[in-house]
Amino acid sequence: MFSVRIWGDRGSMPVPGPDTVVFGGNTSCLEIRCGSRIIIIDAGSGIRGLGDWLVRNELKNGPISADIFITHTHWDHIMGFPMFTPIYVPGTKLCIRGPVNFEDETLEQIIGAQLSYRYWPVRQDELAAKIRYESLKETELDLGDGVIMRTKYLNHPVLCLGYRVEYEGKAFVTAYDHEPFINLFPTDPADPDYDAAVAEEGDKAAHEENARIEAFYKDADLLIHDTQYTAKEYKAGKQGWGHSSYEYAINAANRAGVKRLLLFHHDPNRTDTELQELELFYQGKLRGKTAMSVDVSREGMLLNLA
Ligand SMILES: [Zn+2]
Ligand SMILES: [Zn+2]
Repeated sequence: MFSVRIWGDRGSMPVPGPDTVVFGGNTSCLEIRCGSRIIIIDAGSGIRGLGDWLVRNELKNGPISADIFITHTHWDHIMGFPMFTPIYVPGTKLCIRGPVNFEDETLEQIIGAQLSYRYWPVRQDELAAKIRYESLKETELDLGDGVIMRTKYLNHPVLCLGYRVEYEGKAFVTAYDHEPFINLFPTDPADPDYDAAVAEEGDKAAHEENARIEAFYKDADLLIHDTQYTAKEYKAGKQGWGHSSYEYAINAANRAGVKRLLLFHHDPNRTDTELQELELFYQGKLRGKTAMSVDVSREGMLLNLA
């Protein structure tokens, strides 16, 4: 068995309410099953539901053991951790990995700071679970049981990793929070700082970085990609915020030969009606033009890879 369940797909902030019933209001959390292994990507508010589910359904089979990979430490990706019930259950074993700038505090300090009396009634050292923390860079990890995890730095205002899980000949990849690399140098000859050679170098560097990201999700059976904005919204002042447009994600995934693309990290203001319209619009545009299937992520979705 190789499957992915979506427990949270919202960006920036949980948004419960009547307008987010279909696509969900919880921030990012993915549960990946590779045989008996439990791999969790991100501890956004969606991890609360996953934790309760595990305690209700799996604890009877023995203590819970899981690998948690954090894409980055922005609050929407770690805020659910204090409500992840297994941390209060004796016998639980967790290995939490994620990227931190080396001049920052450790991953344990950043995530654990949420469990201090200032923010929460239980302190980190009062937790019953055994938790090991490891900071992560671009690398390849053999997690055992035939599971390989590769990581790749994405383009976001803080160090952020994409994850590629390979198991039983299939590949699942995440590319959020991420926006395409751009040329950082002036490209307009009328600009007093314009330098043709530097502009060309900047173009080349951005192109190469984007090609590396596409190589990272090449031929993925499932890719979950950041699509917080439409191309129009992105161009109207959202560039540099670290998120992609639907158009970019679809084109890049298609170029990379991705088989199934899930559009993810929905803007908190996006309603169910709007997401449904966007899904129909992009599916309609792609009909007959690609073999890649494209859907907007819905909380609760279960995707089977093998
Ligand atoms: Zn985010
Ligand atoms: Zn972020």
